[in-house]
Amino acid sequence: MRLLSKLTENLITLLFPNICLNCRKITPLKYFCKDCRNSASYIHLKTCPDCGLPQKLCDCKWNFYYFDEIISCFEADEATKRSFYSFKFGGNLVGAEFFSKEMSKRIKNNSLYLDLDVITSVPSHRSTLRERGYDQVKVLAKDISKIIKVKYQPLLRQPSPSPKQHETEGIAERFTNVLGKYEVLKNADVRDKTILLVDDIKTTGATLSQCARELKLAGAKCVVAVSALTVYPKKDNVEK
Ligand SMILES: [Zn+2]
Ligand SMILES: [Zn+2]
Repeated sequence: MRLLSKLTENLITLLFPNICLNCRKITPLKYFCKDCRNSASYIHLKTCPDCGLPQKLCDCKWNFYYFDEIISCFEADEATKRSFYSFKFGGNLVGAEFFSKEMSKRIKNNSLYLDLDVITSVPSHRSTLRERGYDQVKVLAKDISKIIKVKYQPLLRQPSPSPKQHETEGIAERFTNVLGKYEVLKNADVRDKTILLVDDIKTTGATLSQCARELKLAGAKCVVAVSALTVYPKKDNVEK
């Protein structure tokens, strides 16, 4: 029986080989080949709970965020972005599985707030969703919901399209750009709730902060933000 299951497993691997999320080589391992798995990009760093950056890059002094804590998983370096984009733009669900597992691990091990009532995701405008075909942040949030066993509920919406954050230069502009961009859904009751707010990539934190602000204004008790990737600021940006 054991031999049979081993044979079946080998046959499945042969028919559906694992492709490394980073270099796209066929690998016997899940998610990454040995070389990519051992590369520094996938090593977790200890990050500041207030801004999500490693201690030496902490920019809490420059920013004020509406979320109570931020959990950040990976630096958005070239290799990690490549892995993430295979899911974000390529619809590779193996990538979604990897990132949601890692995010869940990080939430369980690091969050100061373990009594979560609900998980929600940063919404996209429907024109963006139509273009991409699916909502990658919602996919992540729903996967995390299954792993950590907290219910997922859409709580926010983005009523009108606006310039994409990554096309906006400068920290101040990014914070202005998101003002009034998000709304809490009319039927959502967030009063006294501790909410896990999921996003895919954090750059300045403006989007997560604005969503957290709306949730707080609607009565949420606590908002814990989590992002799969975090763009680390360039030193000269921080010192401005
Ligand atoms: Zn690889
Ligand atoms: Zn900080």
